[in-house]
Amino acid sequence: PKEQFDPDPNKKTLVILGTGWGSVSLLKNLDTENYNVVVVSPRNYFLFTPLLPSCTTGTIEHRSIMEPIRNILRHKKAKVKYYEAECTKIDYQKKIVYAKDDSEIKGDTMETEIPFDLLVVGVGAENATFGIPGVREHACFLKEVGDAQKIRKQIMDCVETATFKDQSPEEIKRLLHMVVVGGGPTGVEFAGELQDFFMEDLQKWVPQIKDDFHVTLVEALPNVLPMFSKQLIEYTESSFKEEHIQIRTKTMVKNVTDKYIEAEVQNPDGSKVVEKIPYGLLVWATGNAVRPVVKDLMSQIPAQAKARRGLEVNEYLVVNGTENIWAVGDCAVANYAPTAQVAAQEGTFLARLFNTMAKTDAIEAELRDLSAKQATANPDQRKVILEEINERQRQLRRIKQIGPFSYSHQGSLAYIGAEKAVADVSWFSGNIASGGTMTYLFWKSAYLSMCFSTRNRILVFFDWVKAKFFGRDVSRE
Ligand code: FAD
Ligand code: NAD
Repeated sequence: PKEQFDPDPNKKTLVILGTGWGSVSLLKNLDTENYNVVVVSPRNYFLFTPLLPSCTTGTIEHRSIMEPIRNILRHKKAKVKYYEAECTKIDYQKKIVYAKDDSEIKGDTMETEIPFDLLVVGVGAENATFGIPGVREHACFLKEVGDAQKIRKQIMDCVETATFKDQSPEEIKRLLHMVVVGGGPTGVEFAGELQDFFMEDLQKWVPQIKDDFHVTLVEALPNVLPMFSKQLIEYTESSFKEEHIQIRTKTMVKNVTDKYIEAEVQNPDGSKVVEKIPYGLLVWATGNAVRPVVKDLMSQIPAQAKARRGLEVNEYLVVNGTENIWAVGDCAVANYAPTAQVAAQEGTFLARLFNTMAKTDAIEAELRDLSAKQATANPDQRKVILEEINERQRQLRRIKQIGPFSYSHQGSLAYIGAEKAVADVSWFSGNIASGGTMTYLFWKSAYLSMCFSTRNRILVFFDWVKAKFFGRDVSRE
């Protein structure tokens, strides 16, 4: 059958897991003619995560920041296979990836094995819950499109339920209390977007919720946005105060029920008390945890015995203890923060590495041919062949000079609501820290230019215009 796996026996098979920042930037820059390329991912699109918080309130429609993987692959020179499936296990000794179709519609075949010569693991991370009871059952995460859609629905459900006839004042307060746990950039950006939604649209459309709608950001550490400079942390905290977003620092959530969270609050004198905080909507943004498939691979490799946060890689992003497995992005531990910026640069580096490796293989094959010819050639021919051999060897040396991966930090950017953003940007050899409306315009133009395609850019631009002129859509669907 046409769609059966039919690798070219003369080429090595390169299997890429995931369609996120790392894998897609690899695919974008990879010369696919050199390998049998197979992509396995349960998500048949690339997601521009930096604008995902804007999808929770309808400022941006989620489809505007999605790019179908099929569209990315159809522009490649050589055909790339894509299987919409989750990798359930990597057997690194047998060099096999096990894939399972976990989507709603399944055929007779739901599971398969894919052999590989080279493997890139770019499966990202899952949401950390630290085993805190009730989180998975009651909280919303903010990582995928489905999460943003769920939050958008729940915000409106809380509002409509709070305005239901005869609802008690106490229950109204609970339903309209939007609690965000985790003061990293995900939590901060979401809290800012949510307050914008309330200030710009919700309170006009549903005026009776005006006094009771509150957003609270809960953070275990003494401050939010730990990766930003002190000045921008203070700016964010004072800006949230002005926007009436409450920040509860030194407050660590320990338990979650369907109606309240229980948090350990540290008082100024150092004593600790447990407080119950009722909520209507709970968004959980406490960072990353290792995916089971990655944990399983780590357990198969003795050199990974001490690894905790993901696959430890060397400076060429090769998974320590293996020769033919590379890891990129949030599932790799390479001493960089788990960001899109890092994942994208790692993906681009790997593409260059694989393109170079293919060229090296081709030249080495030519060298073998030339050496064989040289053995049977007459003295005149031999001289010519020798020159060719020297030229190939020079080429080989040049190509093999590819240096290790080095990350170039462009800066950190985050939207904090009320048309303000904070930025720690690298500028020549210095650093610029800025916050405010100009930074917000910079944030907007930077993210617009970073969108995956022109189509995405246009859609995002029109979503912004639409929200500005007509307000966000409050229908719950
Ligand atoms: P991902 O992009 O998460 O992709 C992982 C891929 O693997 C997905 O396609 C997934 O479907 C697939 N996958 C999962 N399990 C399997 C499996 N078992 N088998 C096969 N495939 C699998 N970073 C920034 O630098 N700037 C920002 O502004 C920014 N904003 C963010 C906002 C939000 C709301 C979030 C959640 C993150 C943000 N980040 C930002 C972080 C950034 O998104 C991540 O660091 C980045 O996505 C990591 O890329 P990745 O390729 O490792 O993983
Ligand atoms: P994070 O790891 O950056 O922050 C999580 C926060 O949750 C921490 O500050 C932690 O102290 C807190 N926390 C953990 N457990 C808690 C508990 N029980 N109670 C209260 N607080 C608790 O997570 P994130 O914001 O999801 O970001 C993940 C990664 O994605 C980071 O590397 C981040 O830089 C990146 N990211 C970047 C941007 C941006 O650049 N604009 C936006 C989103 C995410």
